[in-house]
Amino acid sequence: MANTHGFHFFMNPGPTNIPDRILRAMDRATMDFTGAAFKAISDECLAGLQRIFKTEQPILGYAATGHGAWEAALVNLFSPGDKVLIAESGYFSQNWGLRAEAFGLQVETVANDWRRSFDPAKLEAQLREDKAHEIKAVLAVHNETSTGVANPIAAMRKAIDAARHPALFCVDTISSLGSFDFRMDECGVDVVVVGSQKGLMLPTGMSFTGVSAKAIAATAVAKLPRVYWDWRRLLGQGSPQQGYWNGTVPVHFFYGLQEALRMFEEEGLDNVFARHHRLAEATRRAVRTWRQNDGPELFAIDPAGQSDSVTAVLMPEGYDADAMRQICLDKFNVSLGGGLGHLRGKLFRIGHLGDLNEAMVLGALAAVEMALDLTGAPHGKGGVLSAMEYLSTSA
Ligand code: PLP
Repeated sequence: MANTHGFHFFMNPGPTNIPDRILRAMDRATMDFTGAAFKAISDECLAGLQRIFKTEQPILGYAATGHGAWEAALVNLFSPGDKVLIAESGYFSQNWGLRAEAFGLQVETVANDWRRSFDPAKLEAQLREDKAHEIKAVLAVHNETSTGVANPIAAMRKAIDAARHPALFCVDTISSLGSFDFRMDECGVDVVVVGSQKGLMLPTGMSFTGVSAKAIAATAVAKLPRVYWDWRRLLGQGSPQQGYWNGTVPVHFFYGLQEALRMFEEEGLDNVFARHHRLAEATRRAVRTWRQNDGPELFAIDPAGQSDSVTAVLMPEGYDADAMRQICLDKFNVSLGGGLGHLRGKLFRIGHLGDLNEAMVLGALAAVEMALDLTGAPHGKGGVLSAMEYLSTSA
């Protein structure tokens, strides 16, 4: 019988654990979303999000998951037949591209090994070849949730500039924003896409887009049809912030977001990033220990590209990652992420983002170590001990 006792450890890389403080903030009566009291809340939220995006440009919201915000970026920026360049990183970069294709865009890809951080030199070279500037935008994923590889957004911006290419730069920060450093304005990012359910610690169902002046100008000439997603409508009459919302505003999300942003302010963004780094490093140390005796290994090869929000772990050949995950869930009530696309069954993913502490991560690592024993997969012993040693000696 499945173990359903105690806390359910939901250690997927999103949705993440929702702190009690946020749940309590949402446990509140509905209010008139057209009134002054709600406007004060939404203004506070949009200003707080700007600090996390590190931007002074508008941020627009939708009642939709990240897929909706992906689609909003496509329909607002492009016309049928436009060409976009996908910076390949994994399942999510691939899927943003598939959606672009479905809208009748031409999709070119800068090929990249899924186990390595994206190589900006390849982007520069491919953009240089586009002498007629047919490529309208570069679409990239900051943190590829499917592989646990983080991509170098600042260096990618430099590559676009070095190629003297006018393409828009659109970045999916769905599993990085609020977990490790991202700078919209400093990195010249034109469109930022994020969802509510990961670093922002909220329930699933809301997403946001940061839009630069260049992106807003592009939307004026884009011909793909859009109504709900239309940034011009959402910006209202020349409002620097969201001036309009299509349909009923999900006020409870805003109650939660207001509380989440207050938590970020109290902890300090840099401290939030440092906490994520520590928990990620403890996880990596556990995996490096398991790697002994030809055991499981970190999927992300370059140390600089190893994500601070999710660690993907490749099982030894011949051992099913999903069988191991099932043992973790059934015996220890710990849910891990699985491999996506062609990685299904080959790897498992440990999410370490959002509202987490050392004991929660150690608990999950202990469950993984026990499940490795139970599946009979070869592995080094003492992964949890390596994580503990690191956590007890690092600040
Ligand atoms: N992009 C990335 C990097 C993701 O991790 C996800 C979901 O995990 C998505 C896009 C899709 O977002 P959603 O599931 O909120 O629609």
